[in-house]
Amino acid sequence: MAHHTSLLTAVDSRGHVHLVIGANPLAAARCSQSLAVGATPILVAPEPANKGELLPAALQVRVDSGEVRWVRDTTGFADAHLETLGRDEVDGFVDAVFVTDHDSSLAEKVSATCRRRRIPVNVVDRPDLCSFALLSTHVEGPLQIGITTNGSGCKLAARIRREVASSLPTGLGEACARLGALRRRIQEEDRRTATTTIAKETITKAVPVLSEDDSYDQNAAFNQLVPQSSANDDAETAKTRRMRWLAQMCEYWPLKRLAGVTDADVEALLEAYATQGAALPQDESKPDTSAAPGQGRIILAGSGPGHPDLLTRAVHQAILSADVILADKLVPQGVLDLIPRRTEVAIARKFPGNADAAQEELIEQATSAALAGKTVLRLKQGDPFVYGRGGEEVLRLRAAGFRDGQSLFVLPGITSALSGPLFAGIPPTHRDAADQVLICTGTGKKGKPPQPPGYRVSRTAVFLMALHRITGLVAELTHYTAEEKEAGETKRTLWPASTPCAVIERASCPDQKVIRTTLAHVAAAIEQEGSRPPGLLVVGRACDVLYTPVDTTANSDGTSKPWSVEEGFASLDLDSISPAGLASLA
Ligand code: SAH
Repeated sequence: MAHHTSLLTAVDSRGHVHLVIGANPLAAARCSQSLAVGATPILVAPEPANKGELLPAALQVRVDSGEVRWVRDTTGFADAHLETLGRDEVDGFVDAVFVTDHDSSLAEKVSATCRRRRIPVNVVDRPDLCSFALLSTHVEGPLQIGITTNGSGCKLAARIRREVASSLPTGLGEACARLGALRRRIQEEDRRTATTTIAKETITKAVPVLSEDDSYDQNAAFNQLVPQSSANDDAETAKTRRMRWLAQMCEYWPLKRLAGVTDADVEALLEAYATQGAALPQDESKPDTSAAPGQGRIILAGSGPGHPDLLTRAVHQAILSADVILADKLVPQGVLDLIPRRTEVAIARKFPGNADAAQEELIEQATSAALAGKTVLRLKQGDPFVYGRGGEEVLRLRAAGFRDGQSLFVLPGITSALSGPLFAGIPPTHRDAADQVLICTGTGKKGKPPQPPGYRVSRTAVFLMALHRITGLVAELTHYTAEEKEAGETKRTLWPASTPCAVIERASCPDQKVIRTTLAHVAAAIEQEGSRPPGLLVVGRACDVLYTPVDTTANSDGTSKPWSVEEGFASLDLDSISPAGLASLA
């Protein structure tokens, strides 16, 4: 069913004139709201009928203090107010009108007059007379969260707002302010170091993620691999990498960690940014790994695709009993929340350009803690041996003296490569449709494209780390590469552009997103719908076995797109959806 939605905007109301009509407690609340956003409220209300009777107390206080100007109007309202009480800059028109008494016969008249003059008008409890609605808002420093149900119920909106607000880590508002300051200082730093070789337009083009509007998901370029920094980086490459560094920090750091950012952190981050480009400050202390490991042990484990209920019991137990947890940046918040408060936790400081250094740092932290007799959990996303460099870590740890089954353990996790498709309703194998699954990476070593897999009608291919270069990948699957042609290697069976495929992003997380289309349109779909990492691509006719392609050429919003988008993740909490679960709510 198509629902009506509204354009949500944030109006900078500083200096605006708001007309508040009516003398009641709601009018007092509206005046306070206007004052809070820097507007000037003007109250239009008749003198109280009985002499000596005052306005509602909260209003009277504001009027007495001079914060609210009271225009006494015996009729309650005159058209002329709309055109004379406002700012000179807009020829005396007021900027918005709030009618606080919906029974008043005035409400319809005021609404009609305002609409005719294009003045935004809001009448309490009369959506039919409003040209705009107020949101149920949560405010914390510069952070505002507004909820609307578009008329489905203001109580419900308030409840949702409270729920959303209570799930936020404390200090997030302050953190927004701090990160905003960091962002401005980074921009200053870049302006300061800008050389004549970089035109200003190039900078803006290179970093669309830093746009002023908050309305975008990451665009498709966001997760593009940024090469390791090197001495011969040109200034533009260095700049692009550095800009993405902050954007990725905002995307990948757990919200709790972001909320805990202090002034000192901002200074350290800025220092790192200015002096080292992308790399965050490294821990300089090198543990002595030549000694044999003491009592301690290292557990390398996978945390599953995202939802904490997808942890294995073994990994959950390891989380509860470890002394130190070293987690990769992709390990989801829901899993991190299970870590007992007393446990020491470090999140990998892996950012574009410093992946190797961060990996090295983690290994060193792990070995030194284990040598000190601690149980160290190296927590990785998904399964530790599927594109997680888990094998490399085992080799490193063995070289440092750790022994399999004695001081070194590896625990599996549910890989996103198989569970991602499942949560999009795609069985990677299905009798008569798909009899083999290939898990591939879209990104080769040093950012080079890997050899593309050949087509087989019954093959399902799952591509991890691929969405940032989707255009290139699709081209390689559907055409021979220049190198192949040069070498005369044109035997590989190409993938038909009509092969069904699906993009699954943040599988099993509340903000899971699935795009279904074909190879021909998948790049355009990501380009237009934006990218919400981490995400993967599934290709093959398995994509269609449990799913009947809908006619997307005429979408409810009147557009026509050769793909469909599904948002959200159905709960894993079976109790809450079973009849028994429902009965317990009654
Ligand atoms: N060891 C991990 C994979 C690490 S590589 C595993 O087994 O899942 C990182 C890639 O995994 C990402 O680029 C993305 O392609 C994929 N990925 C990880 N988590 C995902 C998720 N929740 N939804 C979709 N893709 C995910």
